[in-house]
This record gives sequence, structure tokens and C-alpha cells, in this order.
Amino acid sequence: MPARNSLSNYRKLKAMAVAEGAAVFGVADVSAIEDTFCIDPKSACKGLDFGVSLGVRLSDRIVGTVTDQPSRIYAFHYKRVNSLLDEVALKVSNYIQSCGYSAFPVPASLVEDWDKMRGAVSHKKVGYLAGNGYIGRSSLLVSPKFGASVRYATVLTDMPLKADKPLKAGCGTCAACVSACPARAIKKDAKDFDVEACRELLKTFANRPGIGHSICGICIKACKGK
Ligand code: SF4
Ligand code: SF4
Repeated sequence: MPARNSLSNYRKLKAMAVAEGAAVFGVADVSAIEDTFCIDPKSACKGLDFGVSLGVRLSDRIVGTVTDQPSRIYAFHYKRVNSLLDEVALKVSNYIQSCGYSAFPVPASLVEDWDKMRGAVSHKKVGYLAGNGYIGRSSLLVSPKFGASVRYATVLTDMPLKADKPLKAGCGTCAACVSACPARAIKKDAKDFDVEACRELLKTFANRPGIGHSICGICIKACKGK
């Protein structure tokens, strides 16, 4: 019975992902957003209508070392968490393939389009559709349990899976990241988020000794979720 298979597949993938280090797991029906994928050639993800959204937590103590700029240990940790995410995604993908289905693990932090700062797939969008969080004023995916201190990866697949639904939650009256952002990029109205202002500051941070890539961490530290 397909419905039962979908649920049992979902449970198996979730158990595997959690055992490998994921703190957040959900599945999205991505058929409606496939045209936004930046995958070349497009045929590589044809028919992969489910997106498995995997989240690995950042260390709260290390996020706590971010001040008005990222710390070197945060920069290292950020990369390490991305590596773990890629490993979890690879293991989940290999399992899916061993069951006779297709899987496309989308790297946690590989930029495909530098102008728009886009990866192959928006992990944020997939995570939102998978019910892993809501899109906050900071433009980050906010987990109600872990705030913004989670990094995400996605596995696209045609394995039959139960799909989750987006959460009915949001920032409410919180505006902690609005006042925390040194670039003044975050506004009360999420639609007004200033991508350019954020990008410019990230470029400055990337050039600082021991940082080396476009990270900040200030709005992540401010966001505890709810
Ligand atoms: S990453 Fe930094 S500059 Fe960008 S919105 Fe967050 S706090 Fe502001
Ligand atoms: S810090 Fe508050 S306002 Fe900002 S994204 Fe998180 S929950 Fe939303």
C-alpha cells in the first residue's frame, strides 16, 4: 500500500538522519518549486518531487563567541557543521539508492549563482515547506525549538515519502535581530530585508584574518526562536 510505504520510508530516513547527527528533519513536496532550482542540467533533478530537509545544530556556546563580528572559532565551526551535513545527506542518499530510488544530495553551502547568492536549491525554502521552521525577519529559517542556530542541507528524491506541511508560526512581536544587525539590513517587515547591505558587510567580514568566507552570525546569535 503506497501510503504505508511513504510513512515507513519517512520513518527510516528520519531515524537514519537523527542517528547520523541531524537535529531537525522534514520532507517537502518540492514539485511546485522545481523551476527555482539552479541545477545544470535541469534533467538531473527531473522527477525528484520530494525534498528531504536535514538540519544540524550549531553549538550555542560557539555561536555565543560572535560579537559585533564573527569569531574565528565560529568560522571554523560553521564549515565543520556544513561538512557533517553533507555527510548525513550522502548517507541518506546512499540508503535511498540502495532501495532502488534516485537521490540528489544538495550540498549545504555550495554557491551556484554568485550574483544572487544562490545555491543549487534553497535549503531555506525546502525547510520551510517541510515544516522545519518559519522564515523570520532576518530572512533565515527559524526553528521554533532551536531558533536560527541550525544549518540545512537537502536531498531530492523520488522515493515515496510522507510530505510535511509548513508551520503556522512567525516572529510575532520579536525584533531581536532588527536591532542586532550592524548593517541595518533587517527591517520590521521581512519583505524589506536589504540583501545588498547584508552582502556588503559579509564581504568585509570575509576579508578579516581567520574568517575567509562570507559569514556573520550576529542575527543567528540573536534569534532563539519561539
Ligand atoms: S548576516 Fe549579519 S549583516 Fe546579514 S542580516 Fe544577519 S546580522 Fe545583518
Ligand atoms: S530574532 Fe526574532 S524577529 Fe528575528 S528572525 Fe528570530 S524570531 Fe524573528
